[in-house]
Amino acid sequence: MTSTIDEGRTTADGTADGNGVPRSQAFFQQAQERTAHNYHPLPVVVSHAEGAWMTDVDGTRFLDMLAGYSALNFGHGHPELLATAHAQLDQLTLTSRAFVHDRFGEFCAALGDLCGKELVLPMNTGAEAVETAIKVSRKWGYDVKGVEVDRAEIIVATGNFHGRTTTVVGFSDDPDARDGFGPFSPGFTSVPYGDAAALEAAITPNTVAVLIEPIQGEGGVVIPPAGYLREVREITTRHNVLFAADEIQAGLGRTGRTFACDHEDVVPDLYVLGKALGGGIVPVSAVVADRSVLGVLHPGQHGSTFGGNALACAVGTKVVEMLASGEPQERSQRLGLVLRDRLESLVGRGVLAVRVRGLWAGVDIDPTVGTGRAVCEALLARGVLAKDTHGSTIRLAPPLVVSEEDLHWGLDQLEAVVTGG
Ligand SMILES: *Cc1c(COP(=O)(O)O)cnc(C)c1O
Repeated sequence: MTSTIDEGRTTADGTADGNGVPRSQAFFQQAQERTAHNYHPLPVVVSHAEGAWMTDVDGTRFLDMLAGYSALNFGHGHPELLATAHAQLDQLTLTSRAFVHDRFGEFCAALGDLCGKELVLPMNTGAEAVETAIKVSRKWGYDVKGVEVDRAEIIVATGNFHGRTTTVVGFSDDPDARDGFGPFSPGFTSVPYGDAAALEAAITPNTVAVLIEPIQGEGGVVIPPAGYLREVREITTRHNVLFAADEIQAGLGRTGRTFACDHEDVVPDLYVLGKALGGGIVPVSAVVADRSVLGVLHPGQHGSTFGGNALACAVGTKVVEMLASGEPQERSQRLGLVLRDRLESLVGRGVLAVRVRGLWAGVDIDPTVGTGRAVCEALLARGVLAKDTHGSTIRLAPPLVVSEEDLHWGLDQLEAVVTGG
């Protein structure tokens, strides 16, 4: 696909219906009228996508710089993933876990091997995987560590994002995520993210796990101080506490390594995975750990109707196969250097600070330029789709398949917007 702005803005039908109104307006309006307003989408209505490019109902093309919050690490419509999904649709889609299907074992084996762990528990969404990690950690606390019944504590970090279930938002410190949804589950202690000493000080005999994101994506691509993950590993080991790494957004190639924990050669006790695991096709999530941890679950104690379904396993196995080649990670690392260079050149020119790891960046916009939302709207007008977080930060996470040329083009648009060029 081409990347020039002229082609990117060319429309298939002249952008308009007979009245000169873009078709997207009607779709957008219907969506707004008939859904709960739990999102504030940019005014674009997409109907087709390929690789790193999305096309709206008026035929206008946009470079995707969000990649479904990293669910689309392998791009839209990746040929191998699509072929796998199409073939599986004709074979078998769902049995429930009441029966075993022929794609289940191979998925668990492949993902377990990728993580260097013995067992895999597949779920669907990220939030379900986090809930699973919480339940498994508590059960491990009672069955293995010997914590008194119903006294288990889990340590989390400020600025966290682990999903939207009532338990999970209960330990968020984002008022939007939390306010109005209580009462919340007890048993969580929050400590400042990046502060290993505070984390160690919060450990009690009832602490069963530390649950953190190795990089906080929703928080604005917040990278902890160097050595933090290693310290968390050492502290949790020393105190007989599980280390659960929520790699749902940071993992699976996004940062230039398979897992964000790999940057410090750290292996957590539980990997919590999601997003890109489904190849942008189906929701697939999982908790991956050794038998000493996941072995605490027995029949009837946890489950999911759709978790580990045949379509999910087929797609997930292909995703793991692609990651096992190391190619997406290598691309992310290489293009990440381009992203870093370009973004660092903007600091002091409409940008206050940038944080980059692999093909993933948090860009803090100078408030004199405008809000993050205003910058995203200006990017939209230039054919780039990106999303703000927490007011003034823009998260950039293009699909890892983006071409270097297209990446440069997207960053040209950002540069023009923030420098007023
Ligand atoms: C997106 C995300 C989740 C929640 O995943 P869902 O699939 O939306 O439930 C949990 N943790 C992190 C770090 C995430 O980025």
